[in-house]
Amino acid sequence: MIRIKRNQPAPPALLTAGANELADATGHYDLPIGERDPEHLSSSYFKAYNASGVKPTLNEMFHRKCAYCETKAMPSGYFAIEHFRPKASVKIGRSLQPPGYWWLAAVWDNLVPACNQCNSSHKGNLFPVAGTRATTPDASLSAERRLLVHPCRDDAEVHFEFRSTGEILGKTRKGNESIDVYGLARSDLTEDRKTWIRRAVKLQEDKTRKTVVAHQQGSKTDTQLADEIRALMELRSDEAEYAGAARQITSATVSQIATYLDVSLGTQIDAFVNDHASPIIDEPEPEEDVEDALDELLATLVG
Ligand SMILES: [Zn+2]
Repeated sequence: MIRIKRNQPAPPALLTAGANELADATGHYDLPIGERDPEHLSSSYFKAYNASGVKPTLNEMFHRKCAYCETKAMPSGYFAIEHFRPKASVKIGRSLQPPGYWWLAAVWDNLVPACNQCNSSHKGNLFPVAGTRATTPDASLSAERRLLVHPCRDDAEVHFEFRSTGEILGKTRKGNESIDVYGLARSDLTEDRKTWIRRAVKLQEDKTRKTVVAHQQGSKTDTQLADEIRALMELRSDEAEYAGAARQITSATVSQIATYLDVSLGTQIDAFVNDHASPIIDEPEPEEDVEDALDELLATLVG
C-alpha cells in the first residue's frame, strides 16, 4: 500500500444520488427499530455509490491499482468500489451486525477501488476499532480509533515493512490488523510481490548502482546514468505495481545516488533526470475504456 492523494473531486452524479439516498436513509433510521424495513438494512439498498463516473474516477486516481494490495487491474477492466467503512452492517466476531456506516455509503472519502481478493475474500464487512464504534451520523469517527490503515489518510510506510522475499510485516498495531483484514500476507500475493521485486526492482537497482560506479569512473555519460536512475524511480512511482515494497527495498540505494549527485555534481535526482535523461517517446493514447463508454451510455439512458 502507498498513500494516494485524493486529488479528484467527487463526481457530480455521486453528490446528487448520495444526497437523495441519505435523505431517504435518514428518514428510515429515525424510525424506532421495530418499525424499520429490513430491506433498508441490507447492502443492496445502497446504490448511489455506483453513480456514473465513480468507478472510472477512483480507478484512475489510484492508477488502476487496488488501494490495499497495489495489484494492477487488467487493462480491460476496473476494480470494484469498496467501502472503507462498511455501509450496511459490520462483521463483529462471526456475525454481521447492523447498522453499518450508512451515512457514509456515498461519501467520496469512504470509497476506494479494491481487487476481489482484498475486498470480497478478505475485508468484507470487517472494520475493527479500538475505541467506541460510531453508529449514528453525529458520532465521532476519530473516537473510534480505527485499526485499519486508510489509503488516503495514513502514511502506509509507517505501518508496513516489506522484505525482498515479498513478505509484509506490520510495524504498528494498525499495520498488523490491516495485514490480517486486507489479507496482505496471502501466499499468492506474497509470491507476486517476490517475483516483481526479483525480476524488476532488484535488477534495475543493481543496474543503476553499477552505472553510478561507471559514471564515477568516467565510462558512462550523464545521459546513461540519468536513464538508469529514471528507470529505478519509475518502479517507485505511484503508478508502479507494488510501489510501497519497491520504495522500501531501494531506499538505501536511492539515498546513495542522491548523495553522489549532490556531492559530485551539486544537483538533485529529479533535476538530474530532467536535465539529462533521453527524451521519452510518447506512446499512442489508449483507446477509450469500454466501461467509461458504458457509464456514459447508461447516464444518457437514465437521463
Ligand atoms: Zn487488493
